[in-house]
Amino acid sequence: MTTIDFHLFQVAAPTADEMTAAYAALHARLDAATSDDQRHAALRDWDAIRRRIETWEALVGLRFQQNTQDPAARAEREYADGLRPKLTELSVVLKRRFLQPPLRSIVAQTYGDYVLALWEADVLTFEPAIADDLVAESKLEADYTDLLSSAKIDFRGSTCNLSEIVKYREDANRDTRHDAEKARWSWFAANRPALDSLYDQLVGLRTGMARKLGFDDFIGLGYKRMKRVDYDQADVERFRADVREHLVPLAVELRKLQAQTLGVDRLRFWDEGVHDPRGNPAPQGDHDWMIDRATEMFDAMHPEIGGFFRLMNDAHLMDLKNRKDKAPGGFCTSFPDFGVPYIFANFNGTKGDVEVFTHEIGHALQGYLSREQPVVDYLWPTYESCEIHSMSLEFLTWPHMDKFFGAGADRFRKIHLAQSLLFIPYGVAVDHFQHLVYASPDATPAERHGMWQQMERTYLPWRDYGDLPHVDQGGLWQFQRHIYLSPFYYIDYTLAQTCALQFWVRANRDFTGALADYLALCRRGGEAPFQELAKSAGLISPFTPNCLRDVAAQARAELAKLA
Ligand code: ZN
Repeated sequence: MTTIDFHLFQVAAPTADEMTAAYAALHARLDAATSDDQRHAALRDWDAIRRRIETWEALVGLRFQQNTQDPAARAEREYADGLRPKLTELSVVLKRRFLQPPLRSIVAQTYGDYVLALWEADVLTFEPAIADDLVAESKLEADYTDLLSSAKIDFRGSTCNLSEIVKYREDANRDTRHDAEKARWSWFAANRPALDSLYDQLVGLRTGMARKLGFDDFIGLGYKRMKRVDYDQADVERFRADVREHLVPLAVELRKLQAQTLGVDRLRFWDEGVHDPRGNPAPQGDHDWMIDRATEMFDAMHPEIGGFFRLMNDAHLMDLKNRKDKAPGGFCTSFPDFGVPYIFANFNGTKGDVEVFTHEIGHALQGYLSREQPVVDYLWPTYESCEIHSMSLEFLTWPHMDKFFGAGADRFRKIHLAQSLLFIPYGVAVDHFQHLVYASPDATPAERHGMWQQMERTYLPWRDYGDLPHVDQGGLWQFQRHIYLSPFYYIDYTLAQTCALQFWVRANRDFTGALADYLALCRRGGEAPFQELAKSAGLISPFTPNCLRDVAAQARAELAKLA
């Protein structure tokens, strides 16, 4: 038996010449092929090349995020960013070839029709004419990550990074919350010119690429980049309308209740993270203690999940502690050559640690359970489906929250549910904002801040920033990394949350059945588009009118019970 250990993972960096030669060899084999067996073999060998590239890119990206100040890791990341357009070009040319007869039917026989739809989206997102723009885009995105990672915020005698300062959002003391938010947003105010300029350049660059590719604006290209093949802008707008009708009023009620619970007459921005006058419940131990509790929890849930978690732990596939020079945030990545995922987080001692942990483990579990999918495109679904696995596991672990929070478990559940509901209007605001931005790419930075304020009035009408700098002028969105790094990747969370809440409703009635459907969904990986995957797991598509009405009703009932 081979032992999997992250510390031993090595993948040689590909070079442009090596890859050009490898692709030329595949084309030559297809030219010379006289049988379908030979065509199938070329298709499978190409998949192996793509797995190696994905594994290498994931390792390079991860090692940089683990230490953004390591010059060697940075140099590798920059090398990978520089090589990516060449790799994209080689791959797009071959995809175009496989989309044409007679090869098209070889692909369909081997992997089914869905991969053809994915590749049809891909080939619309690239022409050699935008290769230099893509390098420039990566560079600007890296500059944004660097700027946020470099933040040093003085707060009450200590120096915090942006991951550390946000823990005070949940402090029981109102002055502490206020002062920490003031310190955080003062950093953003001081860096507003740089943040405005980076985004302005990104919007200009992305719009330019879209026009070179024949789109009117970046919105169409953004959807293709997200590989949306079974819904469009009109579907998303219908969902946003459903949110305005069913969830914004519920969110307003929840915020009123929250103010009453906290005993304040006006709920300010710095109060929004706290739902309990004692402060939010926090996990009752440190990182190592949490790993032990998680091992017990996953063993109790299902033997397959327990075994998977032991592998994650034993093979060093988790980096969860906050430390200096580590990039902020949490994510899951994976190494197709080794058949395992990896999770990254920055624990800070709040309940968010448990939420981020169960969320990222949900992604990792799906990545692991679908590792035998036959083509690299099916290892992960598109993002709105990926987030179903992560957000649903946050709910499916509810029965075990006593392990982490002791007597505070019900308080945790109530807050988790309230925040999940409150998240949807925010997530939709982030999405709607980006539609406004890319529809008017020539807007000034000040006009963009005005667009964000319009979104806050629509989706977050209770919001009161008091005396905080920057955010009272429409600057909150500049902390939301997806807006800079992953355009139009945000509605995905709200679509998935709508599905996760349905899993939560079902788990309350029939936990075993809900878990079985969940694991079956994980195993399917990305072999089908969003609405088909959701349907196969017994979920109602969020694009079905009034989908949120029932979820909102169930949530109201449950919140009343937990109160
Ligand atoms: Zn996620």
